[in-house]
Amino acid sequence: MRDTYRHKGLRKRLVHSLRQRGISDEAVLAAIGAVPRHFFLDKTFEEHAYDDKALPIAHGQTISQPFTVAYQTSLLEIKPDDRVLEIGTGSGYQAAILAALGAQVYSVERQEGLYAQTKALLGAMQWKNVHCFFGDGTAGLPQFAPYDKVLVTAGAPVVPEALRKQLAWPGGVLVIPVGKTVQKMHKITRTGRDTYKEEELDAFRFVPLLEGVAPR
Ligand code: SAH
Repeated sequence: MRDTYRHKGLRKRLVHSLRQRGISDEAVLAAIGAVPRHFFLDKTFEEHAYDDKALPIAHGQTISQPFTVAYQTSLLEIKPDDRVLEIGTGSGYQAAILAALGAQVYSVERQEGLYAQTKALLGAMQWKNVHCFFGDGTAGLPQFAPYDKVLVTAGAPVVPEALRKQLAWPGGVLVIPVGKTVQKMHKITRTGRDTYKEEELDAFRFVPLLEGVAPR
């Protein structure tokens, strides 16, 4: 796939509309302006890649809406070299945005086919600072913990304990949508060994965070 002037123009428009919806983090807006979202979609959806909409990807999953990606990424306040754990690799778009901000990204996906496809895509795009894993993200990824930031991109019925425990402290941040059909965004900051500060923010709708890996 190619990244043409037309795609770049559409991205500029998308960034403008995100700004109007209240996204003000310049680094996040620059990353959205830089990463070709159409690379992460099936050719069928190329025309809609820069609409502010969630779209279908393989295995019945969705690529998050650009506003949601910008919102969650802004809450994380990514600094270069932050170690970031993402739960729900999906298309890989959110992982690429984190990588564009200079993070070392560890991303976990429970659908094996989607994991393999996205790992290959990110590799082909030369995102060297994204590491993909197949597994159940509710358990986190203990072998590379602690993480400066943890991002969950699926709706969690409850906050998995393992994800809190894998945050660096003090100061590690977990951003997670919590709820069954509608989710409230939660920003949880680890303040000490067993202490956390918890903020409940806006409402969103995500595909569900499911336990275990998907059957083949
Ligand atoms: N961040 C993705 C959003 C994908 S939608 C993107 O930018 O495209 C959420 C993804 O979370 C789906 O692919 C789904 O399969 C995955 N998921 C759901 N529960 C999970 C779990 N327990 N562990 C890992 N991935 C999970």
